[in-house]
Amino acid sequence: MPVLEPLIELGRGLWTTFRSMFERPVTYQYPEQKRPVRPRYRGRHVLKRYENGLERCIGCALCAAACPADAIFVEASENTDEERYSPGERYASTYEINYLRCIFCGFCEDACPTEAIVLEDDYELSFTDRRSAIYPKEMLLEPVGPEAEPTPQRTPPGLYTRAVPEMEDPKD
Ligand code: SF4
Ligand code: SF4
Repeated sequence: MPVLEPLIELGRGLWTTFRSMFERPVTYQYPEQKRPVRPRYRGRHVLKRYENGLERCIGCALCAAACPADAIFVEASENTDEERYSPGERYASTYEINYLRCIFCGFCEDACPTEAIVLEDDYELSFTDRRSAIYPKEMLLEPVGPEAEPTPQRTPPGLYTRAVPEMEDPKD
């Protein structure tokens, strides 16, 4: 009957609304509540350290060479045993990533011989000017662990001659 039809549709709509009142909400109350990211999510980069606090980055700039967006700038300096930042001869005295250029492709991570640069799960990247989109080494370097020493370290002569450690092949 044409008169009943709109009422049936109205009732159906109200029933849908009523039913959804008892369902679990799918919204997250960001920023108080943060949604967990997928295991292979590529967020902001972190420059990693070894367990003893030495920096993994050896300033080789392979990441910068691999970057299709020209987003990375690396400048290397010499390590000494009195002032050591990383194993081997050199460390990154300047390391910058321009997040206005980065496309989060992960090529830098793949190119790194020491697994120093890793795209982790931080997605909270917002800037108010162009300069603050360039993250310097101090912002990218991970904090020193509780058992570790900060860099630069004073190390015994001849102990850290090898820049690239023995590593297993990546699993994925
Ligand atoms: S994720 Fe890609 S675009 Fe971003 S810095 Fe690394 S290589 Fe460059
Ligand atoms: S992050 Fe890796 S590839 Fe880039 S300069 Fe450092 S060691 Fe080399």
